[in-house]
Amino acid sequence: MKIIPSTEHAGIAGKVGSQFSGAVYPYMTMPSTDGVVINTVNFTPCARTYWHSHEGGQILIVLAGRGLIQAEGGPVRILRAGDTVWAPPGERHWHGGSEDSFMTHTAISLGVTSWAEEVTDEQFSATPSDGEK
Ligand code: MN
Repeated sequence: MKIIPSTEHAGIAGKVGSQFSGAVYPYMTMPSTDGVVINTVNFTPCARTYWHSHEGGQILIVLAGRGLIQAEGGPVRILRAGDTVWAPPGERHWHGGSEDSFMTHTAISLGVTSWAEEVTDEQFSATPSDGEK
């Protein structure tokens, strides 16, 4: 058993990784352990991940705010507090804050995450499938 004290993940708040566009504040809730990594990520409005996929899939639990997500080839979808997402193994996608809202999610990532190219402003600004932003 491993207990990760809150003081450890609070200590990396504010670091911005190269896999993100815009200001993103990830907390390492659980460093990679037996192929599982958990991050709690605060996205500022318009901030988002690069395109990427997760070897074993990913669970997103939206804690606060409103965000956007898109799987490759699908529409941009809105995420709201309380939503849960399952991204299956290998599915390319991105996620982030919406144009006018912060978004906080806990991300449970299984296996290796493969990072690709940046999400363009045009891709980000595509109208979400339910017509809202
Ligand atoms: Mn992801």
